[in-house]
Amino acid sequence: MCIRVQFVPRDEIHEVWDRARNVITIPDSLSATTRFTLKAVRAVLEEMGVEQSEFGARCWCGEYMHIPAAIRQQQLNEVIHLGA
Ligand SMILES: [Zn+2]
Repeated sequence: MCIRVQFVPRDEIHEVWDRARNVITIPDSLSATTRFTLKAVRAVLEEMGVEQSEFGARCWCGEYMHIPAAIRQQQLNEVIHLGA
């Protein structure tokens, strides 16, 4: 099962890495640009022991992950709703 990324408000984050759901949670303040998001996602992945290449973010299966960026508030709420 591949790793997914979701954004939530910083004060609602309990765990950055949800092992059961394979979800990395990033503060929504970092969703503004792909660069910020990527940096945060890579940091979490590296902490999990998933080796990262020079660009992008790699899932533990070796595939490059789709990094959602610059999402609108409405979409953000949707992600939270679906993730709950
Ligand atoms: Zn994967």
